Amino acid sequence: MKYQKLLTNGKVQCNICPRNCILGEGNSGFCYIRKCENGEIKLKSYGYNTGLAIDPIEKKPLYQFYPTSTILSFGTLGCIMGCQFCQNWQTTKVKAPIESCNKTSPEEIVQIAKHYNCKSVAFTYNDPIAYYEYALDSAKLCQANGLKTVAVTSGYINPEPAKEFFKYMDAANIDLKGFSEEFYQKHCLAHINPVLETIKYAVNETDCHVELTTLLIEGENDSDDMIKAECDWILNNLGDNVPLHFSAFFPRYKYTEKKSTDFSTLMKAYQIAKNAGIEYVYTGNISNIETSRTYCKNCRNPIIKRNGYQLLEYNLIGDKCRFCGAKNDGMYEPD
Ligand code: SF4
Repeated sequence: MKYQKLLTNGKVQCNICPRNCILGEGNSGFCYIRKCENGEIKLKSYGYNTGLAIDPIEKKPLYQFYPTSTILSFGTLGCIMGCQFCQNWQTTKVKAPIESCNKTSPEEIVQIAKHYNCKSVAFTYNDPIAYYEYALDSAKLCQANGLKTVAVTSGYINPEPAKEFFKYMDAANIDLKGFSEEFYQKHCLAHINPVLETIKYAVNETDCHVELTTLLIEGENDSDDMIKAECDWILNNLGDNVPLHFSAFFPRYKYTEKKSTDFSTLMKAYQIAKNAGIEYVYTGNISNIETSRTYCKNCRNPIIKRNGYQLLEYNLIGDKCRFCGAKNDGMYEPD
């Protein structure tokens, strides 16, 4: 494996994500899918997936990356994060045998995406950082065959592997799970700074189209102050044109006692972000036409109207607003 270091005590350190797990022979890392065998760390999930699906790209969620196109989604087992509220815990946390998954090579992923006329392939369901080599080999082959590549990720990755990762991703939805170190430590068993560094790098130093998502859990990461602090950080470090999605939490995994996010909580966050000056804000996992729209940053008319993942109205010509001609942010099919 490329990002590993042999230590003087004979153990091997994995340097893909900031956990930097140190593994003795036969040990698995936090993600449980990397294992030290014969003095080398091996990705046990390479070539295995937990299922393939063809989705509207809006489901990732990506609202300003080839809207209305279809995307082939796949993921494997394991995860680098320890989110107690994981919405996909059946694949990220249950240590199912890898043999229970389907075998699919990067070549087959390309073939399937092409067969079903997908515009893109998404590395999703579990974090592609956990299956870094499988995701990257697939991404390289996708791009070589005219497919776009999309990562749905926590952004919990070390700087060196991040450079290679984002080089082969055309778009990413990165979770910003809550805006405090305390939230990351308590609820994700992780740290916030590596995530912020990844987001800054991806937005400011790569060509990858980035959108951000915050899953709101009431009483944990939805205070006015925390949302305002998140928005201020985004504005100061990324600018005003990175789309921000606030999505609803549903009781899952260790947080089955917590309640689902109220519509009013999402609306409050939406309004705070809008008032702070973030240009493109959305709500998700809950149906609301008004806050699913993309508004022109110049004339404020709705340039894309949606109902859930369904398109209602499309008022872009290429990347220009049909009403005023202003260029809007994102990646769109040419006119
Ligand atoms: S990728 Fe897995 S093994 Fe490597 S440092 Fe992260 S959690 Fe540990």
